[in-house]
Amino acid sequence: MNLILLGSPGSGKGTQSKMLAEKLGIEQLSTGDILRDAVKNGTEEGKKAESYMKQGVLVPDDLITSIVIKKISNAKNGFILDGFPRNIHQAESLDKVLTVDHVFFIKVDDDVIIDRLSNRLTCRACHNTFRKSEVMDNTCPVCHSDKLYIREDDREAVIKKRLEIYYKETYPLVEYYRKKAILITIDGNDDIFTINTNINNKIKITPVNKK
Ligand code: AMP
Repeated sequence: MNLILLGSPGSGKGTQSKMLAEKLGIEQLSTGDILRDAVKNGTEEGKKAESYMKQGVLVPDDLITSIVIKKISNAKNGFILDGFPRNIHQAESLDKVLTVDHVFFIKVDDDVIIDRLSNRLTCRACHNTFRKSEVMDNTCPVCHSDKLYIREDDREAVIKKRLEIYYKETYPLVEYYRKKAILITIDGNDDIFTINTNINNKIKITPVNKK
């Protein structure tokens, strides 16, 4: 099964796609995580992507599309795509190599997004994200590393830029996938477990238990 999680930055796509990947036993592919690792490791791709990411704008289509297509051609069981496609051109490139079964559009109000992103910590080791108030002693609640940090693009000015880019470039994908009759809209203002239950119900799997 191939799934796409679509939504604005901070809509919870990353969290939900990790939960779904665990449940379904299929690979989650987060283009944001892949690019951040590439920047951290100083690869050629990371060097090309870094300045775009800092500004909160999209990296060039050919750079990200070639990364994704390489990953897709190596896997067998299907994918959960988180952060790709980000515009119509990327979606058309994806259509040439993958049949997408469902696209979950996680719809969240902008004021909720701004509050979530400006209070978010990310773990460099396991890529999970947390609200600052959930974290004790700067230790990651999932992998227990001390690698929590505030993403450079989670600062207020960059958050606004990312939202602007989202509405201009990514939001048209809602209509693109609605026309293909594979779009499922989920209320993303709810808590993580309610969202997870709603997504699972749509693809008829039992929810991940509350920890
Ligand atoms: P994310 O973690 O999904 O919010 O992505 C962080 C940043 O990585 C974005 O603001 C973009 O600069 C870049 N990025 C991630 N995915 C894509 C994509 N599919 N196309 C272009 N840029 C991307």
